[in-house]
Amino acid sequence: MAYTWNRIVVKVGTSLLTTPEDDFLSVYITGIVKELCSLRQSGKEIILVTSGAIGAGMCRLGLKHRPTTIPLKQACAAVGQSCLMNTYEQLFAEHQQSIAQVLLTHHELANRRSYLNTYNTLLTLLQYNAIPIINENDTVAVDEIKFGDNDTLSALVAQLVEADLLILLTDIDGLYSKTPDGKGFGELIPLVEDITPEIVNMAKGSKNKFTTGGMATKITAAQIATTAGVTVMILNGRIHGILSDALFGKGCGTTFAAKADKISSRKRWIMYGLKTVGEIIIDDGAREAIFNQGKSLLPSGIVEVKGHFEEGDAVIVSGIHGNSIAKGLINYSRGAMAKIKGKQSSQIEEILGYKYSDEIIHRDNLVMFE
Ligand code: GLU
Repeated sequence: MAYTWNRIVVKVGTSLLTTPEDDFLSVYITGIVKELCSLRQSGKEIILVTSGAIGAGMCRLGLKHRPTTIPLKQACAAVGQSCLMNTYEQLFAEHQQSIAQVLLTHHELANRRSYLNTYNTLLTLLQYNAIPIINENDTVAVDEIKFGDNDTLSALVAQLVEADLLILLTDIDGLYSKTPDGKGFGELIPLVEDITPEIVNMAKGSKNKFTTGGMATKITAAQIATTAGVTVMILNGRIHGILSDALFGKGCGTTFAAKADKISSRKRWIMYGLKTVGEIIIDDGAREAIFNQGKSLLPSGIVEVKGHFEEGDAVIVSGIHGNSIAKGLINYSRGAMAKIKGKQSSQIEEILGYKYSDEIIHRDNLVMFE
């Protein structure tokens, strides 16, 4: 399976960023950054999800214990996030690798429009060879919009960008079975095909023994990601060269097999997860382009627009004879569509005064009916 992964989300936990003496930035992250850069340079698309803002803020503010009040936690995150990015900026600069800070709350992923916007932004950053570095926006996240832990956040990001692989880097070697008495730790489990209740149970109570982040949230993350067609690996980020070893199939850590292929999981999300709020009627040329040639939908082939929708909404694409052809996420609102239908993509900016993209519906956001 060597090097079959192209788009990889890597999550780094706080335990790899701090030392037992509570000093921020351990030696491990320097090695991890180096590996990420060589993967990037070999053509992989890398997205880093990092924890450590609150930890870094605690060090900077001289706090000995993790804050319990929300304002202090959020203040710590605000101080720490800039320390964190400053550290990454310096580490990645040594490899001439550009990075980008992206702070998310659940709000961006639950809302269709901002979901699409986040997706487009992350893909643009990848196209420009930057490594997006994502954390939860802890400074503003209150309960209703919180992911709560970065394992879950990384799984949702992996699903969002349709990653091939999610790597959860932590400070233990992977998932361990329990000893027969159910109390101790047995063997490392190399491959999990199915996340059964038994597997979920193995992760329980592992928090104090070996991990700071805890195994339970990693199993939840693996459930989310594998269901969306993303393979997941839990690896020990303290082992030198672990990323390349794992990617070259040297059999490290625990791998969770992806459940569905990613196209079908995204298809499911667009087909069944979203309400259709409008309809786009296209001519035969556009039909041929999207149906038989695998192209995106451009404004030139659009004949008519029905319904009320905003950018990011789901619409049905129909032929001029009323036949439904596809469903997709549209990049322009009804008002904008009325102005640009039938026009060339090169005219969009002139007509609207802005342009989100050349495509009305990007191929990645278009699901064809059988
Ligand atoms: N977003 C938190 C931070 O940067 C970490 C959450 C987690 O470790 O899961 O400190």
